Amino acid sequence: MGSDVDAREQLIEHLKFLTELGIDGTSREQGWRVSDRPRVSVGQGFSPVLQVIRSELGDCTRCKLHTLGRRQIVFGVGNPNAALMFIGEAPGRDEDVQGIPFVGRAGQLLTKMIEAIGLRRDDVYIANVIKCRPPENRNPEPDEVAECERFLFRQVGAINPTVIVALGTFAAQALLKTQESISRLRGRVYKYGGAQLIPTFHPAYLLRSPDRKRDAWEDLKKAKALLDKTET
Ligand code: URA
Repeated sequence: MGSDVDAREQLIEHLKFLTELGIDGTSREQGWRVSDRPRVSVGQGFSPVLQVIRSELGDCTRCKLHTLGRRQIVFGVGNPNAALMFIGEAPGRDEDVQGIPFVGRAGQLLTKMIEAIGLRRDDVYIANVIKCRPPENRNPEPDEVAECERFLFRQVGAINPTVIVALGTFAAQALLKTQESISRLRGRVYKYGGAQLIPTFHPAYLLRSPDRKRDAWEDLKKAKALLDKTET
């Protein structure tokens, strides 16, 4: 009985979120039915290659962030064989405490966005350009990026996703090596090694500017369509 009520509440929450995204209908297409999808996850965390990258990162002191109050390194989480990878900027306070990317308010929105395309958080892989929290959540600085980004690039190589969603200006600029703003970058698909890269708004920005959720939803639908195309 309790679980029926929980399931109903979850469904109501899910439908509210879809409405917030501006989705005005549902699809009976097989690919959009979460419950019918084979579970692609092979468990959280580490393949042997990711393990090597993590151990080379070690208790990193390569940049000044290790002296500026970081509690722990936030490496990445999810399915090491994920077809879809999300890349953000840097850990915030909650991530620094828990050691897991995107677990604060922005992370909860990201989880809803992932679920809105019929996947679960542990089906995908989530990482950041920078692995340590910048003080006061300031933007990462160029010397910090220069030391850290190579670990992200190696994570991408190890996971070998089909589709990468770059969350926000900072991730999109670091991956695409450009200074263009996210508003100019989004709306197109870029080639990134063997993957297709879709820049979209950062969930923290969407919390401040809910009117842009509709655009983010268009980007996510594009990511989903690319995944479906390569799965079949
Ligand atoms: N914002 C990010 O870019 N990454 C996180 O992990 C959390 C918030």
